[in-house]
Amino acid sequence: MTDPPSVFNLWTAPWIRVTRRDGAGAELGLGACLAEAHALAGLHDPSPLVAAGTHRLLTAMLQAIYAPQDLAEIATVLRAGQFDPVKLDGFAAQYADRFDLFHPTAPFLQTGDVPLDGWKKPEKGQKHDWADPKPIAALFVEVPAETNRSHFHHVTDEGHKLCAACCARGLVTIAAFASSGGAGIRPSINGVPPIYVLPAGSSLFESLTLSLITQGYQPPTADPQRANLAAWSGQTTVGKGTQVSAVGYLESLTFPARRMRLYPQGVTTTCTHCGAATQVTVSSLLFEMGHWLSEGSALWEDPFAAFRKPKSKGKAADVGPKPIRPDEGKALWREYSGLLLTERDDQLRPRIVQQIAKLIDRRALHETQRVRFRCIGLRTDGKAKIFEWLDEALEAPSALLTDDDAAQYIDNALGRADEARFILESSFDSHFRPERDRGGRNEKLARFKTVRARMTADYWRRLAPLFRRFIVDLADGATREVTALAWAATLVREGKQAFATAADQVGERADALRARVEAQATCHRRLAAKRKEWFGE
Ligand SMILES: [Zn+2]
Repeated sequence: MTDPPSVFNLWTAPWIRVTRRDGAGAELGLGACLAEAHALAGLHDPSPLVAAGTHRLLTAMLQAIYAPQDLAEIATVLRAGQFDPVKLDGFAAQYADRFDLFHPTAPFLQTGDVPLDGWKKPEKGQKHDWADPKPIAALFVEVPAETNRSHFHHVTDEGHKLCAACCARGLVTIAAFASSGGAGIRPSINGVPPIYVLPAGSSLFESLTLSLITQGYQPPTADPQRANLAAWSGQTTVGKGTQVSAVGYLESLTFPARRMRLYPQGVTTTCTHCGAATQVTVSSLLFEMGHWLSEGSALWEDPFAAFRKPKSKGKAADVGPKPIRPDEGKALWREYSGLLLTERDDQLRPRIVQQIAKLIDRRALHETQRVRFRCIGLRTDGKAKIFEWLDEALEAPSALLTDDDAAQYIDNALGRADEARFILESSFDSHFRPERDRGGRNEKLARFKTVRARMTADYWRRLAPLFRRFIVDLADGATREVTALAWAATLVREGKQAFATAADQVGERADALRARVEAQATCHRRLAAKRKEWFGE
């Protein structure tokens, strides 16, 4: 390597973007982030994927540090109000060296068997056993085109020069979000990325402590023989396209789905990603297929993902559960039941939520407290094409997390909302769909479809804040019937309004006016009938 060796140790060097409890922003290393976690509101990165990846790394480290045997131990950590400085120092003394991004043989989250100048072409007659360098932009392929990516996209992929902090932020996203992408490129341990449900407490300390997990809630297929292996204590190399069948829990949180090696250069410049001045820049890296969980393996039950059996389609009825993933056009609150509520035959909420419910049961969490979860996901087409990310909070009065009866009410509420949606759409279809034999039908059909899609989106958007209200009301166990009746009235009212707005857009001509009146009458009648059916009137 021609450049002087550089060091960027994630334990000490600042790279994690956080918000302090007074609202001020800061960038911290891993050590300071853990030591000051009680004074931090949370992780705050423009990319939610970076926040989720960082949360997983911090969680893995704390899991290694505390390794709680039972719920009482988690409760004890919570009561302490901050992470134990003695324990943090002990961890640092043992492992801090392993967090250097540019270490010659043990680079953090990368493979150490490729030299730092692995980008150079081999001498004549020789051959590297690693791939040619890729532009550093490969680390950020998951960034949606319309957001971050375009904001620095006046530079072509080849033109990017990243500071070390930006490289670190990219590296931590891989384990959670690497997806499929062309021949031989397989997704990380959770397959096509699920929605990650991360506990969000009143401080980063609380969020991370609630992410600690006892043995009983860890993925059942985690290999106990590998329980102590982690990105900072295990192998320093990542195999190329390596199929693995045994994975420990700590390993899973930083699963090396890609074999990577950053190629740093001593070039003083401005980072094309964050705009910071930097003396070490990275414009290329080794980026090839790393580890993948062998196909015969049982489902990996990541504790931060929810699972459900797909709706049975004919003979595929015995298909096992699959992680809940972001769905096109489906707002997160409509997954409320699958993500947070008690286990049912066909769905399993995240193990971390199950454990929090147990903590509430044991009164380790204050019962009147509301529990918040930050849900982060990446919607893809299951291949290399990335669509958009999702970053939303779901809130639950703690009573709801432990209450089967409430879960039933919420299931019903969501099911009824969808039944009303069906009435809106089918009423719209039967009155406004253009007839096939008319001229100019394509244009009309396109307009019809647009207005109809807008109506449905409008309906769900109207319901979102009202559903939050419904959840709060439902926490009162004594008035649930009243709350359910009020929700039904809400569905009818908002449904009518969404329908009326859409009908107004259909057209002003006389026949359209008549159709509009008839359509609204049909829609109103059917909604009223449905409401009677719900309550057996
Ligand atoms: Zn940067």
